Amino acid sequence: MEFSLYDMAVKQLEKAAKYLDIETGILEILKKPKRELIVNIPVKMDNGEIKVFTGYRVQHNDALGPFKGGIRYHPTVNLDEIRALAMLMTWKTALMGLPFGGAKGGIKCNPKFLSKSELERLTRRYTYAIREYIGPNIDIPAPDVYTDEQTMAWMADTYSKLVGAWRPGVVTAKPVQIGGSHGRIEATGLGVVVVAREALKILGFKASEVTVAIQGYGNVGYWAAYYLHKWGFKVVAVSDSKGGIFNPEGLNPIKVKEHKSRTGSVINCPKAINISNEELLELEVTLLIPAAVENVITEKNANNVKAKIISEGANAPITPEADRILNERGVFVIPDILANAGGVTVSYYEWVQSLQRYWWDKEEVLDKLENKMIKTFHEVYKFSKERKISMREAAYMLAIDRVAKAIKLKGVWP
Ligand code: NAD
Repeated sequence: MEFSLYDMAVKQLEKAAKYLDIETGILEILKKPKRELIVNIPVKMDNGEIKVFTGYRVQHNDALGPFKGGIRYHPTVNLDEIRALAMLMTWKTALMGLPFGGAKGGIKCNPKFLSKSELERLTRRYTYAIREYIGPNIDIPAPDVYTDEQTMAWMADTYSKLVGAWRPGVVTAKPVQIGGSHGRIEATGLGVVVVAREALKILGFKASEVTVAIQGYGNVGYWAAYYLHKWGFKVVAVSDSKGGIFNPEGLNPIKVKEHKSRTGSVINCPKAINISNEELLELEVTLLIPAAVENVITEKNANNVKAKIISEGANAPITPEADRILNERGVFVIPDILANAGGVTVSYYEWVQSLQRYWWDKEEVLDKLENKMIKTFHEVYKFSKERKISMREAAYMLAIDRVAKAIKLKGVWP
């Protein structure tokens, strides 16, 4: 049978629901997305040909507020994956106490083979196709894999043209010049390490003795490394899709980024030795941050992971089987719906600013973010201790309970 990310997400929901007092009917509502859109989008290519692309928008649940979630452009995009990620977004926004539900979208395409003008036409036509189902109070998309602030600028402009007035609240992670929030770029990476710092304190580590390995040196990985270095922690290894680098004395994240911008990869960076991505995950470090892709820690390598703490920058980097092994071995895992929620949290701040047309400075945004991440971390930690369960189980239970209660309070109409 083919592996289904969505089945895995449903299993996780069922597992958490077992310990919660959730009615069967409400659990049935939570298991299924509220709406699934599949759109076939004709796009005029630069050479005059017409190509048809398939796009998705899955809206999982909006009991706590408008649907919220990213849009990815990737050749492997499929309904199963988008469904699973939409459900994950419902739990993430609920856990963070944001007035949003969960959604995810995507277009099956290879953006590496599309010109900027083709990408613009594809984005605008996709926005047109889903226009009736998005909006500042309905569903608010954001960027994800291979989409960025330019994609969001095109979406906001297209939607606004269609409704006849500028509506910056329809998407988040827009460019700052057109109503994006300061601090959105660094938000996810900063959040990942703010919660890791709390875990290090709980386990009694001093900053000077902490070593860190980070897989993935994109938006999340770089900003995680930047802040850790700034706070005096030693980042000894980082990697990207071409491989990794290691220096036991510590790396300078800004210099590594300059090297990557110059050469296209972190590998062959001066004052470091090259290692593989597999070796990076098994290094003798205090903190490990997988910040690249899903399913990198599996039952095959979970026993070789030596880190004491893992903060999940990526979504679902640890398979359920590996999670069980790490738990048994006493590794402190900070789950994705908590660890990487900094991005959607600042997206919420952006949405509030967009609706009010009142802009905050970067310090205010990042202060609010840090406080929220610390508060939520301790909420989850306290619950996990009280119930003697893992941080992941605690985070899921807190989030699912909030959504279930909202559905029950609102009732099923008619
Ligand atoms: P990005 O595209 O900026 O960076 C991804 C990095 O991972 C790149 O350095 C790439 O070279 C590397 N990479 C790709 N495949 C790899 C592999 N097989 N092994 C090692 N490295 C590999 O993406 P990002 O925005 O930093 O997102 C990274 C992860 O974090 C994704 O799983 C994403 O869904 C998740 N995430 C991102 C945000 C956000 O706000 N950016 C929020 C929540 C979750």
